[in-house]
Amino acid sequence: MRIDLHMHTTASDGTFSPSDAVRYAKELGLTAIAITDHDTVAGFDEAEAAGERYGLEVVSGIEISTERKLVSEHLLGYFVDTKSSAMQMMLKRIVRDRDERNLRVTGLMQADGLAVSYDDMQRRFGEVIGRPHFARILMELGLASDTADAFARYLTRGKPYYIKRTVFPFEDSMNTILSAGGLPVLAHPFQYKLDDRQLRELIEYSISIGLRGIECRYSGYTPQQESYLESLAEEYGLLKTGGSDFHGGNKPLIKPGSGKGELCVPYAFLRELKLAAGRM
Ligand code: AMP
Ligand code: ZN
Ligand code: FE
Ligand code: FE
Repeated sequence: MRIDLHMHTTASDGTFSPSDAVRYAKELGLTAIAITDHDTVAGFDEAEAAGERYGLEVVSGIEISTERKLVSEHLLGYFVDTKSSAMQMMLKRIVRDRDERNLRVTGLMQADGLAVSYDDMQRRFGEVIGRPHFARILMELGLASDTADAFARYLTRGKPYYIKRTVFPFEDSMNTILSAGGLPVLAHPFQYKLDDRQLRELIEYSISIGLRGIECRYSGYTPQQESYLESLAEEYGLLKTGGSDFHGGNKPLIKPGSGKGELCVPYAFLRELKLAAGRM
């Protein structure tokens, strides 16, 4: 009973459509997945319908890119009501802030003589457009060999097409997930380069404003790292989650359910989440 509670689709920066992601997870033998696109829930309805077609449990989710004290943190939300006004209001604001930044980025590219149009990008990539889409454009223009190259040469701090976007604050993200009836979970805790004391400080603060779980299993995490996170979850009475962060061709080494080969997320994690969300 393997599951994957962290998957991206074309609704954000994955390369599999929601239906294809569901079908692929089913082919790989998973029994449940959550769609956790960055800053959008636009893929959920399609994924849910595909789940019914293929016989796979699909949980609604989101991964919000947030910032606290200038450190970026990703907050997952499970069982969010995707149609709630709290969710819709946040999503509108995030898209507006992204559009503002993205138009400045295309302006810089156009000033360098590159044939880029934000209207075209919106038609192609949908509502939530981020730097991975700019990486794709730079590759198509022959200016970068792959995503990593595009980021390294053009899209990270100090590089020609990097512009910082307004990021949704941590506290507001937490409140939005809670108002939408969801369970807030701290994503991939080792990505923030915190030591034990700093991670505990983050967890304790987050619990005080509503955190319910931490992502304990994640592509590339060692068994030692996973047991450390699971012991923190137990110590703080938090739910445990896990997922691959599947992005299709945008993270080609990662497969749903198994990550880079080492990942295994048990259905028991989801059972506890469902109990906590009142879905059992
Ligand atoms: P944005 O929110 O539009 O600024 O883009 C952030 C997204 O870009 C992240 O969620 C990552 O998926 C991706 N990203 C950030 N840095 C890199 C990098 N160095 N290489 C590849 N992808 C990256
Ligand atoms: Zn992503
Ligand atoms: Fe993330
Ligand atoms: Fe992710």
